Amino acid sequence: MDGKVALEEHFSTELNNRHWNAKSEEDRNGKAYAQDVERRLLDPRLCIAEMDRAGIELCILSLTSPGVQSVIDEREAVELARSANDYAHSFIKQYPGRLSAFASVPLQDPKAAAQELERAVTDLELKGALINGYTNVGPEESVQYLDEAPLDEFWECVTRLNVPVYLHPREPLPSQTRSIRGYPELGGSAWAFAYETSSHAVRLMLSGLFDRYPTLQVILGHLGEGLPFMLPRMQHRLDEQREGQKGSKAKRRPSYYFANNFYITTSGHFHTKPFLEAIEQIGVERVLFSVDYPYEQMDMGARWFDDMRLENEIKLRVGRTNADRLFSLDLETLSAGAAAGFGS
Ligand code: ZN
Repeated sequence: MDGKVALEEHFSTELNNRHWNAKSEEDRNGKAYAQDVERRLLDPRLCIAEMDRAGIELCILSLTSPGVQSVIDEREAVELARSANDYAHSFIKQYPGRLSAFASVPLQDPKAAAQELERAVTDLELKGALINGYTNVGPEESVQYLDEAPLDEFWECVTRLNVPVYLHPREPLPSQTRSIRGYPELGGSAWAFAYETSSHAVRLMLSGLFDRYPTLQVILGHLGEGLPFMLPRMQHRLDEQREGQKGSKAKRRPSYYFANNFYITTSGHFHTKPFLEAIEQIGVERVLFSVDYPYEQMDMGARWFDDMRLENEIKLRVGRTNADRLFSLDLETLSAGAAAGFGS
């Protein structure tokens, strides 16, 4: 299928690399993989040829995890976000219609995060914010999740600008990895990212955030970090233990927020049965194609998606039109036949 949009694709900068210790990536995946990833992160232009081969028309790129969220010094966090967003603006200008980007936001300073998001969306044409999990707000183990930080100024800005927030994984805090100690291969994207990020998303659902900001839209990668499968059980137990919503900070059940305030992408999870189950749980209009470049290969993600036996109409929505609508991309209209490679 030509004309796909992908939105969990990453870049880095020299300044970001000074803050980011890539050693765990190298330890886990080997030196050759880590070097290849770094080379492609540092030069977003390299993804254009891969996009062409994979039938991807537009990539919405973001600063690789943990990015600004892990910067301990508040001033340095603001500086890194600004420089990453300016850099993103420079490459999207170079490849209009092919590359776009999410903004980095320095949530260590909520007012600065709101100001930077506003600048990034209105002046730099970025498409929303991508937040790499919890934010460091002091010494290494001192962090804030999005529901507990005093972020109303930031959320008001997101709502006013009417842009989505991508909640991307980062490693769990070192003190919270006892369950996988002795199995370093389970850190990162193989396992730890999913439990860290799904817990974060559930916190948002239970916090009342979406009652205060009912139009807020949060995107989760990796087919929803397991939530399409896990939420029905969680919902059942919450209903039983709380006699409905008694005692909850939120007015509605988690399943309501999942269906009304979340989107999920296929990044790094190219498996048909979980994909179909995810569509069943959240609805086809809330599922978006993505790859997780350069950690995953574009041609692998695209081949899985293109070869899947699926109605053309559904493929077109997940591959293109859902993103077009969510980000107001104003893409050219393609016929459902185009999803099967029959041209527009
Ligand atoms: Zn990613």
